[in-house]
Amino acid sequence: MLVRAKKHLGQHFLKDQNIARKITESLLPVTREVLEVGPGTGVLTRYLLEMPISLRAIEIDAEAVEHLHATFPEHRHQIILGDFLKLPLAPSPLSIIGNLPYNISSQIFFKVLEHRDAIPQVVCMIQKEVAERLSAPHGNKTYGILSVLLQAYYTIEYLFTVSEHVFDPPPKVKSAVIRLTRNARDKLGCDERLFRLIVKTGFNQRRKTLRNSLKNILPAGFTSDKLALRPEQLSVDDFIDLCNQINTPPPCNNLN
Ligand code: SAM
Repeated sequence: MLVRAKKHLGQHFLKDQNIARKITESLLPVTREVLEVGPGTGVLTRYLLEMPISLRAIEIDAEAVEHLHATFPEHRHQIILGDFLKLPLAPSPLSIIGNLPYNISSQIFFKVLEHRDAIPQVVCMIQKEVAERLSAPHGNKTYGILSVLLQAYYTIEYLFTVSEHVFDPPPKVKSAVIRLTRNARDKLGCDERLFRLIVKTGFNQRRKTLRNSLKNILPAGFTSDKLALRPEQLSVDDFIDLCNQINTPPPCNNLN
């Protein structure tokens, strides 16, 4: 049975079995529960089902789910028709794996962040440019909002690049596989809302120094060495420090 590739669902089916195996082997044995996002025609699912894990897969396309149920009849109950973005995630730890639909990869990462304490690991294939951006260290031109927000809670490794020619239909861009592993940071240690606001506002005008881009947010008279920098020059810890400086009242010199 064939599944017609649907552009609006970001469907580009991987044809190369060696790459499929390499992606599934990138999953570290961190959790027993594993959720595959967007199994499509099952190229990763086949290898995942051979692993000593408890697998579920969620796919939004009914035609693909019908194909998967016919291909893996004894695993029908593990392959669910649904939208990952609407799926309630149980608090028990699970790893996520998938060749992600590129059009919603940012939304998927925001959901991962929201449930970060239940998701110790993500292995995924995404657009190469996005993979580079997410894994970039500070000081790099491509480092941006989602790099900071995700790196606050995850170590991100760029694993390997995948050519557009191993997909049917081929996408216009190259792809890459990355692995996110939850780091030891439990809380940011600063006002999280302010942190997100500063990161987003700073990067929305990334060519300006923070003194200029943040001027409507900073308290009157606030000063810091970091304000002379542009946002990509700040590490996650620098952003946390800046938030704490903003929220700490200056020492009072007038004690009499
Ligand atoms: N895993 C397959 C492969 O490697 O060939 C398919 C990958 S394809 C790039 C992305 C898959 O995600 C498609 O099968 C698509 O239907 C599915 N998908 C798109 N949006 C989704 C969503 N919100 N929830 C679950 N699956 C989704």
